[in-house]
Amino acid sequence: MILALAGGVGGAKLADGLMQLLGDELTVLVNTGDDFEHMGLTICPDLDTVTYTLAGIAEPSTGWGVAGESWAFLDQATRLGGPSWFQLGDRDVALHVLRSERLRRGERLTEITADVCCRLGIRAQVLPMTDAAVRTIVHTPQGKLPFQEYFVKERCAPVVTGFAFAGSESAAPTRELDAALADRDLAAIVLCPSNPYVSIAPILAVPGLQQRLKQRGVPIVAVSPIIGGAAVKGPAAKMMRELGIEPSALAVAEHYRGFIDGFLLDDADAALLPRLAPLGLAARAVPSLMKTSADRRHLAEAVVAFAAELAAGR
Ligand code: GDP
Ligand code: CA
Repeated sequence: MILALAGGVGGAKLADGLMQLLGDELTVLVNTGDDFEHMGLTICPDLDTVTYTLAGIAEPSTGWGVAGESWAFLDQATRLGGPSWFQLGDRDVALHVLRSERLRRGERLTEITADVCCRLGIRAQVLPMTDAAVRTIVHTPQGKLPFQEYFVKERCAPVVTGFAFAGSESAAPTRELDAALADRDLAAIVLCPSNPYVSIAPILAVPGLQQRLKQRGVPIVAVSPIIGGAAVKGPAAKMMRELGIEPSALAVAEHYRGFIDGFLLDDADAALLPRLAPLGLAARAVPSLMKTSADRRHLAEAVVAFAAELAAGR
């Protein structure tokens, strides 16, 4: 049994590889800091990316949304004066409408997600990081931006100076996460190659969660989202520079220092390995670019083997 922490596109790809390997012996704990309210709907971008990816219906060209979408709803909504900056495909909207209605009736996001995953035939357990509303706020010199406005509307152009996770103080881990952590077969905790600041950090900011993961006593392994000093996709490297950090896999390892036991970086960054040892971390270089479904599975195999090696060495 593996517990994997994930954001959207990068996290979902490794989660898919892990599911290919482990089937229902995988729980994916997903960032909900990206969630927002839009046109009366509650939208959970990372949860939906993970769900669509694990269901095998994600759009391959982007990694998010449903493959082969049509856009009639958005076209007509825009014509009627509605906002057009957030892409809402017709099939995608079905999930947002049904979920929003169920949330309004008082159902928990965890239950709704479980139901959706079941209907889409997903074998792994997908859990939102909490059922409480947590909203990532991006601090910029021009002021504070809700995450989707920064990410989609402003296309990550504003300089970031920091982040806040509004609502986090009163968020709590769910009983489903409690159960996953109590599972005697839990063998490792994996930080997927997701954005450390806006995908993994909001999860670890749920009060008490980071300590509970650490205290569980199984190896915690992270995979670098930075390869060759750059992000594969998205603003992770740009954010690091703006925060005064030279973007590299080494900087990611330093960021997680004290929490993780092992770190996997890409073969392209193997020259950094000697600089990781002083951090008190076990580290390996592996092929970590996931272009195909087989790439995902191979990286998952490397993660699981590495975690087993760390567990055996304890
Ligand atoms: P988002 O919520 O959709 O932005 O997705 P995540 O936070 O889960 O993932 C974004 C991160 O994934 C970025 O920093 C990318 O560099 C990283 N990433 C994307 N694809 C890959 C890949 O194939 N391999 C690795 N190692 N990292 C990746
Ligand atoms: Ca995200």
